[in-house]
Amino acid sequence: MFSYRHAFHAGSHADILKHLTLIHLVEYLQEKPGALTIVDTHAGAGIYNLEDGFATVSKEANGGIFRLAQYVESCQKAGTPVESSIQHYLHSIQAENTDGVLAVYPGSPFILARLLRPQDRLKLFELHPKEIDILRHNIKQLPQAKQIDIYAEDSFARLKGLLPPPSRRGLVLIDPSYEDKQDYRYLETAIEEALQRFATGCYAIWYPALSRRESAALPDRMKKMAAAHQRSWLHAELRVENAPGERRLQASGMFIINPPWTLQKHLADALPALVKALGIDAGAKFILKSVEA
Ligand code: SAM
Repeated sequence: MFSYRHAFHAGSHADILKHLTLIHLVEYLQEKPGALTIVDTHAGAGIYNLEDGFATVSKEANGGIFRLAQYVESCQKAGTPVESSIQHYLHSIQAENTDGVLAVYPGSPFILARLLRPQDRLKLFELHPKEIDILRHNIKQLPQAKQIDIYAEDSFARLKGLLPPPSRRGLVLIDPSYEDKQDYRYLETAIEEALQRFATGCYAIWYPALSRRESAALPDRMKKMAAAHQRSWLHAELRVENAPGERRLQASGMFIINPPWTLQKHLADALPALVKALGIDAGAKFILKSVEA
């Protein structure tokens, strides 16, 4: 426990899929003026330096955000239009890099914080004793800090206590590290409890697409749970390579319960471009499927 530091993975292909989806979810939910409560159950440090520290050891951003930026540049040079979903996501990343150099990558807490309207609230959970201090320090710098609560607690245990939010409008991002194999089980229990208390909430679950049994079974287990609660769902997976062994993460997915109707179209625009931009071998591909309740 506690060996996971998200800085090693900041700006990876998995972050791109997760954050591109997340931005769309928030913006859709903000189309109505009512207050929105957003819960980020696994926050991490909030924002990451790509030029220093852990990120420079793993260099995962090289196969992720830096490659995507190159893709956009080559489209622009060739006069080919860049997909609007990709442009929109990159706008959030570039907003943290105002001098035009891609030097920092915002994690979900910063992406979400920047999107808050005055009536919205953000609740962040982080258990790691070092990450929580960095997160608190980072969040303090933001003009939205007063709208953000930070909990150094186990979010799997605490989530149900926050639901339903007072305005009954809520988005929950569940992005565990799966460092503990039990996370798959804790995740399922937390979602089951959450759906019992707040069935109309929007739940966005990230998972690594690995051959490990618990990981491979996760999308089907989520589909069954959504069906049992008569909820719509959307499943998206991005695979950048299909090489023997799993020395590095080759694919990841997002499973959304109660997705907005616009998400399918948004991801249908983004995913083929992400395969083109980030794909490493012929095994690069995507999955996109949704079912109405
Ligand atoms: N959501 C972040 C983002 O997109 O930028 C990345 C989060 S990272 C994948 C997972 C984080 O969850 C780690 O920092 C880890 O310390 C923290 N964590 C692990 N188990 C937790 C738990 N039960 N409750 C709260 N945080 C936890």
